[in-house]
Amino acid sequence: MKKIMVAFAFVQTLLTQAIAQELPKASIVLAAKSKNVTIHTLVAPDDMFANTSHVIELPHELIVVDGQFFAPYAWQLKAFTDSLKKPVTRFYISHDHPDHYIGFGDAFPNAEVYALEETKTGIEKTGLETLKQRQEQFGAIIAKTLKTPTHVQQEGKETIDGVTFLFEKSTDNEAAVSLIIKIPEVKAYIAQDIAYNKIHLFISGSTLGWRKALQQIKNESQYTLILPGHGKPTDRSVIDEDLKYLDVVDKILATTNTKAAYKSKMLAAYPNYGGVHLIDIYLGFYLKNNWQD
Ligand SMILES: [Zn+2]
Repeated sequence: MKKIMVAFAFVQTLLTQAIAQELPKASIVLAAKSKNVTIHTLVAPDDMFANTSHVIELPHELIVVDGQFFAPYAWQLKAFTDSLKKPVTRFYISHDHPDHYIGFGDAFPNAEVYALEETKTGIEKTGLETLKQRQEQFGAIIAKTLKTPTHVQQEGKETIDGVTFLFEKSTDNEAAVSLIIKIPEVKAYIAQDIAYNKIHLFISGSTLGWRKALQQIKNESQYTLILPGHGKPTDRSVIDEDLKYLDVVDKILATTNTKAAYKSKMLAAYPNYGGVHLIDIYLGFYLKNNWQD
């Protein structure tokens, strides 16, 4: 327990420093552009977990995928969607991990929020408690209000504003259940946390199902634009990079018996990856490995 507090104190210190020096801004990148679809991706800074929100700009409306962890980035997202002068008609939450849904409640109070049934239920069950915990841990950079999903997204094909979307459920990957959104017109595969782009992957148990989900993307070679849940939009090279990362994780887990040793080996293997605090958080709270520290 003490170590958990240390891990969190460490993250908090860094965040407090970041805030004192004025919070670094998220970057917004143009991920895709075709006749009817433009995708803009907002990516939080590496030190702030590099969470993504994708703004899918259609002829008359905007669709947003994922709502950030820290409220200031959701506000930046709101300023950006306002600047496009089209209404946000659907706000998707890809899965029920807090870094994807607790940020946007204040900035998008009237959003129509869509998620898979399991995700909706999960957030209804634990969302408020999670929000409160994070408010206590991180203070003012956490949103004051929680916005829960109001619409269940079914799997299948849908045409929105003249553009074809494919919605799929993926299970047992980085999360127990997650939503995949594909947009064939721009060859885009919105993988969210099945893919991390040069950000430390969040490990909370067996990597087997996660590998399967990556393998599935590998089988669908028509999608050349991969949109991760953490890190910038990228190409298909991220699939093998992430598969290899999981190999490294499993190898290090098999040969290590303390959290400190595990972390230092991961940092040595991936010295340039962002999101180092993610390792502290999953070692402190999620990855059960019967380690002493
Ligand atoms: Zn995440």
